[in-house]
Amino acid sequence: MSLSYCYNCGKFTGGKPLFCGNCGRSYDVKLCPRLHQNPRGAEVCSQCGSRELSTPQPKIPMSWRLLALLARLGLGLLLFYASLSLVIALLGFSRSSPRQSYPQHCPQRPDPLGTPLAIRDVARLIGCSAWTVRQSYIPQGLPHLRSGPSGKLIFYREQVVRWILERQQKGRQRI
Ligand SMILES: [Zn+2]
Ligand SMILES: [Zn+2]
Repeated sequence: MSLSYCYNCGKFTGGKPLFCGNCGRSYDVKLCPRLHQNPRGAEVCSQCGSRELSTPQPKIPMSWRLLALLARLGLGLLLFYASLSLVIALLGFSRSSPRQSYPQHCPQRPDPLGTPLAIRDVARLIGCSAWTVRQSYIPQGLPHLRSGPSGKLIFYREQVVRWILERQQKGRQRI
C-alpha cells in the first residue's frame, strides 16, 4: 500500500488519492470538478474549460521552503562578506600600487638602511641616553657599524627603527 505525503499540511493519505485527505489539496496538478488533470500553471481546464481548478499542494514542503530561505540568507551573507573582503583587498592594492607602479616619482631608490646616524642621534630617536644605547641596546643586538680603528659607531636610521619595532612586537608576543 502506498502513501501520498501532502507538502501543504504534512499528512499522509493512503492509496493513490487525487486530493489530500486532510486539507483537500491536489498533489501536483490542478483538477477541475470533472477531475481532468491540468498543469500547475493552468488557469482553465484544457479539456472542459472549467475555471474551478483545485489548489495544488506546494512543490516542496513548508519546512524546505524555510530551509531554502535560510540558505538564501546565508548565501547572501556569504556574498556580502566575499565582496567586502574583495573591496578591502582592492583598497589595500590601490594604496600600495602607486609606489610600485610609478617608480619615476622617486628616481633615486630609497636607501633601505636609511640615513646614517651617530650614537647621539640614535639615543634621541629611541628616547634614551647615548650611554644606554652603548651599554644596553648594542649588547642586545641593535644593528650598527664600527668604522675604522677609532671605533666610531655608525647606525642606520631604517635599521634602527626596524630593530625597535621588531623588539616591540616580540615583547608583545611574550605577553
Ligand atoms: Zn494536505
Ligand atoms: Zn475539466
